Amino acid sequence: MFRPAGRIEDLGVSEILTITARAAALKREGRPVIILGAGEPDFDTPDHIKEAAVAAIRQGQTKYTVLDGSPEMKRAIRDKFRRENGLDFAANEVTAGAGAKQILYNAMMASLNEDDEVIVPTPCWTTYFDIVRIAGGVPVAVPCDDSTGFRLTAEALEAAITPRTRWLMLNSPSNPTGSAYGEEDYRPLIEVLHRHPHVWLMVDDMYEHITYDGFRFVTPAALDERLRDRCLTINGVSKAYAMTGWRLGYAGGPADLISAMAVVQSQSTSCPSSVTQAAAIAALDGPQDFLADRAASFAARRDLVVDALNAIDGITCRKPEGAFYTFASCEGLIGSTTTEGVRLDSDRDFCAWLLDAANVAVVPGACFGLPGCFRISYATSEAELGEALGRISDVCRALR
Ligand code: PLP
Repeated sequence: MFRPAGRIEDLGVSEILTITARAAALKREGRPVIILGAGEPDFDTPDHIKEAAVAAIRQGQTKYTVLDGSPEMKRAIRDKFRRENGLDFAANEVTAGAGAKQILYNAMMASLNEDDEVIVPTPCWTTYFDIVRIAGGVPVAVPCDDSTGFRLTAEALEAAITPRTRWLMLNSPSNPTGSAYGEEDYRPLIEVLHRHPHVWLMVDDMYEHITYDGFRFVTPAALDERLRDRCLTINGVSKAYAMTGWRLGYAGGPADLISAMAVVQSQSTSCPSSVTQAAAIAALDGPQDFLADRAASFAARRDLVVDALNAIDGITCRKPEGAFYTFASCEGLIGSTTTEGVRLDSDRDFCAWLLDAANVAVVPGACFGLPGCFRISYATSEAELGEALGRISDVCRALR
């Protein structure tokens, strides 16, 4: 019988994927299921990006490139960091891999020794926990809630740091809450980090371009020069340019860390796809004006979803600053009974029941480290969102 390695024994395939797959199977059977679980934009990859990939294929750019990004790819990444974030990286301080997820994996594998700790504010994208575990580290959850806008406070950070802490992991705007850190939120955290020079900072800026209401996006390395030699700034083209299937993520950070990450990549996936790199260069170099139009469209959907959720008795939802998720509390409905006489004892029960009773798939907060809540991805049309929220409201009204 197959025995999995100890390092993955307790890990499973992402619960979000399992829920989405179940909902998709029901849909294929003919049920009118609306899936609000997926973490990807419903927009298409823009044409100029697709054309760059087609041209690369025709020009024979179909071979291995430099391990962690072609010189052109690295040039485009450095230009992006300089232009949009005010960060000046040398060529040996940037790296490209097959998605931000691989960049994270490379970084953790390259830096963690057995039992090193990584502080992760929760609720969070659970991938952080599992990658830390695979790399032999220990994820240290610091629970955050609505009262701080799901943001980590300086006091909570200070209390979580131990001599074994290697990294603080931050994600803004956040999956799953949509919360974002402004400059005034980062500054006190940076002060704590200055008191603990052994703690490095890893930031995941994946949703940088999806923010609302004039929110001013900043990234910590740009706020304080002293962070530059211990901060890894991660980003990617998946969400901003609707390129989730192309697989290209990148990062900027200290040269020693970047070259250690290249060692991990060299013995796992090698270079990212040459064709994808051509597409990503076009994305980073090309027109950026459509990003604001797409963010405006996401903002309208956010308002629709937040308003509809807050109108349901027993559900409360904070208005997020970015990304395309709402993270609402269903605490007020836990313990209630369905018309079939079934008691809903948890957020997992609530979400499973929503799929059965309303044909709407959403993800339980427990998947992200905060039970009593659920995540909606509103990266779908307003018509579909309106229908889904109408159904959720109808079935919740019938709960006793
Ligand atoms: N970071 C966050 C916060 C995400 O939510 C996701 C995807 O859901 C990723 C990174 C993954 O990005 P990529 O597609 O580049 O691997």
